[in-house]
Amino acid sequence: MSATAEEEGVIGAAKAFVEIWAQTALVVIDDYGCTYTCDEADVLAELFRACNWNETADDLIREHAADDGCLEEHPGYGGEVEAA
Ligand SMILES: [Zn+2]
Repeated sequence: MSATAEEEGVIGAAKAFVEIWAQTALVVIDDYGCTYTCDEADVLAELFRACNWNETADDLIREHAADDGCLEEHPGYGGEVEAA
């Protein structure tokens, strides 16, 4: 089954988003002093993994969990969390 033109547009936009946000998602936390909710971190990490940005996905969860102390809420992540 092939993708429709609309689906291909969504896929292309998602790939472009990931290319930019793979560089930006981690910087946002430090530069703006903000954090992601667990759900926000999970869906963003999932999108990165789907596009083969696995290291970025792990870095995102690690940074997020270091701030929130919630690594147990992210069972898909296998890395170590550094103290904040
Ligand atoms: Zn979390």
